[in-house]
Amino acid sequence: METLVRLIEGEAAMVAFGECLGRAFAAHQGPLTVNLLGNLGAGKTTLTRGILRAFGHQGAVKSPTYTLVEVYEFGARRVYHFDLYRLGDPEELEYMGIRDYFGDQNLCLIEWPARGEGVLPAPDVLINIHPEGEGRRLELIAAAPANTLLAGC
Ligand code: ADP
Ligand code: MG
Repeated sequence: METLVRLIEGEAAMVAFGECLGRAFAAHQGPLTVNLLGNLGAGKTTLTRGILRAFGHQGAVKSPTYTLVEVYEFGARRVYHFDLYRLGDPEELEYMGIRDYFGDQNLCLIEWPARGEGVLPAPDVLINIHPEGEGRRLELIAAAPANTLLAGC
């Protein structure tokens, strides 16, 4: 288990850090699940915007607060961005057929994963975000082999 800690000040730096992570995730062969933990306003969606930018998505990233999940397609690769804040029951995820999302070359980024406990798979990478001063303290946790993805960022 490897833990990486980073202090990131400002939205632009958060997007840039997300881009660095995104490049590593994009280079990874196989499926990847990343849990994003932190309160409302922590910066989970901002980090997601940076990760998506590394895949080639230039636009805005809307929070899938009501739809629960937004899918971005990059050729054969898909990135699923979940926001489960308003999920009532983890079983709803079963009805959505989400088990199929966690395979192939897919990257799943999950805000509020605790809402889906029991249905969601264990993550490959866990990212904790806490406010610190004007910025954010990020704690990234990954076991082998996913820990190598964090090394360059
Ligand atoms: P969440 O998805 O966790 O609810 P958002 O990504 O929507 O949070 O971000 C909330 C606010 O925090 C935004 O206004 C964003 O600009 C700001 N923010 C994000 N990351 C940082 C950072 N590293 N330092 C300072 N402000 C940040
Ligand atoms: Mg969000």
